[in-house]
Amino acid sequence: MNKITNHLPTAELQALDAAHHMHPFTANAFLAEKGARVITRATGVTLTDSEGEQILDAMAGLWCVNIGYGRDELADVAYRQMKELPYYNTFFMSTHVPAIALADKVAELAPGNLNHVFFASGGSEANDTNIRLVRTYWQNLGKPSKQIIIGRNNAYHGSTLGATSLGGMKGMQAQGGLLPGFAHIGQPHWYLEGGDMSPEEFGLMRARELEAKIAELGEENVAAFIAEPVQGAGGVIVPPDSYWPEIQRICDAHDILLIVDEVITGFGRTGEWFGTQYYGLRPDIITIAKGLSSGYAPIGGSVVSDHVAEVLGREEFAHGYTYSGHPVAAAVALENLRILEDEKIVDHVKNEAAPYLAEKWHQLGDHPFVGETKIVGMMASLALTADKSVRKPFESPAGTVGYMVREKCFANNLIMRHVGDRMIVAPPLVMTKADIDLLFERAVKSLDEGYAAVKEAGLL
Ligand code: PMP
Repeated sequence: MNKITNHLPTAELQALDAAHHMHPFTANAFLAEKGARVITRATGVTLTDSEGEQILDAMAGLWCVNIGYGRDELADVAYRQMKELPYYNTFFMSTHVPAIALADKVAELAPGNLNHVFFASGGSEANDTNIRLVRTYWQNLGKPSKQIIIGRNNAYHGSTLGATSLGGMKGMQAQGGLLPGFAHIGQPHWYLEGGDMSPEEFGLMRARELEAKIAELGEENVAAFIAEPVQGAGGVIVPPDSYWPEIQRICDAHDILLIVDEVITGFGRTGEWFGTQYYGLRPDIITIAKGLSSGYAPIGGSVVSDHVAEVLGREEFAHGYTYSGHPVAAAVALENLRILEDEKIVDHVKNEAAPYLAEKWHQLGDHPFVGETKIVGMMASLALTADKSVRKPFESPAGTVGYMVREKCFANNLIMRHVGDRMIVAPPLVMTKADIDLLFERAVKSLDEGYAAVKEAGLL
């Protein structure tokens, strides 16, 4: 029998964790000294840790628990599906009902002519699929030189080798993570990089880098452009209004595919079903994961247009994962979508939760420590600054101050993340006004305490 349970003392769990468990995106030696926070259970928007603390999860796990924790319906569906058909594949001319039903539902919800789903187990895998998919599409059309995919600096598309190459995280790429066949343009991050330009001028300038990059590489060599509607892991970077229309124009004017990575923005986060609808985009492919199952089961996918699916289907596409369309994950995702629809959670975001969160979030902008506040639906960021009148960054290495504020949030039982010296939230979509009030109260306290600590440390 397994002797490691929730009943062990925290210190013992932490020691065992440090001994055998390698954490993602972590300096494990540092964590072993500090001890990881042990999360034991969760309901609604609240986590409980091994010390019995109640923590408000303003990050919805990793931007994924859209319907909140503790929904028995999903557990029941998983149990039933595991008994009926725990596994079968969809290779070799077979299929099963959960994959059929989920693909049908996603095609119904996805905008425009995005009607065909290739399943994966998460966002990174789905983006890896996209790389091979767009290259094969052009080969099938007799244009095999069209292979390069253009992404953006500071974009995140996942951690596999392919997804790391699509993205623009320099630190990840430095750790053996950049393949040939990828190119990158600048990000529409006005606050950090906009200089004296207006946000609108800067947005246009950054979009036009795509056109310049296509010209530089030769249109005959470019397969696709990929971007998140709002950069998530990059720091919830909301592009200026001028940005997306210009990107869409450029994609229309040139013979390249547009891949919109909706892993975070899909399934209600922006107050629309997809970020594509929020910005009025016409992608050829979208990447989905996270909110597809609200994180209750690992599943993702590429949703492709009628035209792309038709071209791809002309030959065997020699690609697939053992768990593509896994029946339990698919059944759980379908139930999650039923809840999102039946409980009108996307409307709740658009009409109640997001406007209220925006009202509160922008109030944080009055804090002397806060340079700008940004929000789209239920994803928001604020820039910590040494001098808000001139958008001055801190002199300490980027992330020093952000980490100090994050530690205060943690101590105040609020999960808010830092990306460099930017603080971000992406709460479960089901947050009530009372939950948002609590988030605000703890955020203010943490900012006040963080400000004091930063001054005391002589960083301001
Ligand atoms: N794309 C985006 C935009 C993401 O935010 C993420 C995960 N944070 C991924 C892809 C990768 O998804 P996964 O972690 O499920 O592989």
